[in-house]
Amino acid sequence: MCKQIFFSGQYSIRKMYQGLLGQFPKVQWRRVLCNSSASPKSLFILWLALHGRLPTKDRILQWGIVTDGLCSLCGSKLESTQHLFFQCSFSKKVWQKFLQGLHISRAVQNFDQEIQFPIRMSKNTIAVSKLFLAGFAETVYGLWLQRNQRVFAGHIQTAEQISRDVIFRVACRYRDSDLHLLLF
Ligand SMILES: [Zn+2]
Repeated sequence: MCKQIFFSGQYSIRKMYQGLLGQFPKVQWRRVLCNSSASPKSLFILWLALHGRLPTKDRILQWGIVTDGLCSLCGSKLESTQHLFFQCSFSKKVWQKFLQGLHISRAVQNFDQEIQFPIRMSKNTIAVSKLFLAGFAETVYGLWLQRNQRVFAGHIQTAEQISRDVIFRVACRYRDSDLHLLLF
């Protein structure tokens, strides 16, 4: 591909760069990451979650490293990406409090359905959508932090504390004029 571009007589740095990148299908959720003002570390964790690359217990069990596959947050179901972030009873409480903070009324569903909501939100630029996109990534990150805290330190915060931390982190990244949309 790059060789063709080079000898085509229509060489440009842009074409060569795109040639080196290669052709990949665009994922639907790219704007959920690219249009979000969430912290880089939360976007990275969300990216790993969307690719199913986080070391959740269902994966670690297959590697033979642990024998207990129960969810670190609720302790009642197998810990997978799908369960940990949206199906878990503890995570659902955190999401509900976060959604209440943005005055959004909706039931929390599974990961595949939940990602559709920020995909729709990422297509517009109204303030509440921007706040939601940042909060979506920060909530996934907050839940992952709590999961690690339970695994390595043996304790977690309450759903109320986690959602308040999420809203605080979102508030820190936005103009004061947009913050009336967040209910503290
Ligand atoms: Zn759980």
